[in-house]
Amino acid sequence: MTSSTTAVPDDLSSTTQLDQLEERLRAVRILLLDVDGVLTDGMVTWDNNGIEQKSFHIRDGLGIKLWAKSGGLVGIVTGRSSHVVAVRAGELGVGIVRQGVGDKRAAVEAILQEYGLGWHEAAFVGDDLPDLACVMSCGVGVAVADACDDLREAADIVTNTRGGRGAVRELVEQLLRAQGVWESAVRRFQTGQAS
Ligand SMILES: [Mg+2]
Repeated sequence: MTSSTTAVPDDLSSTTQLDQLEERLRAVRILLLDVDGVLTDGMVTWDNNGIEQKSFHIRDGLGIKLWAKSGGLVGIVTGRSSHVVAVRAGELGVGIVRQGVGDKRAAVEAILQEYGLGWHEAAFVGDDLPDLACVMSCGVGVAVADACDDLREAADIVTNTRGGRGAVRELVEQLLRAQGVWESAVRRFQTGQAS
């Protein structure tokens, strides 16, 4: 009696997983971002007038602009609500902004319906448990390097960079490389044609 095995060598298995991830990255049309702990380092400051302040990373900003310039959609989905997020979104030309969201998965589902997109066409970047359902549901679920353990375990990608320190930029580069447009984006800067 012969025994058959379907065991796949570890190296082949990881290659297949990588191919699948590349395929998922290529399918992404909308980049959805949590704010606190993703676009910021998670720290929140109030001034003497009680106005909330946050610090954003400039390289994340350029990443978002490059993604948009390549034809991608960008959306912000955050549980908190603050004027500074609306200001930053406006500066970056991000038109999809959902603040004070209780159920992020429901909010993302509504956005996808509005834009006629499927879950497989969305990437979501989060750092904590309120992002878990979105990270699990989207085609590319992403946890920043310093996300909570459960989110990192559920994610397709864990960035090498921490939230608020360029994690979104890292993902955008990965997306644009997978979609074959990163080199041309860099070339525009080499030739001084970037705007
Ligand atoms: Mg967060």
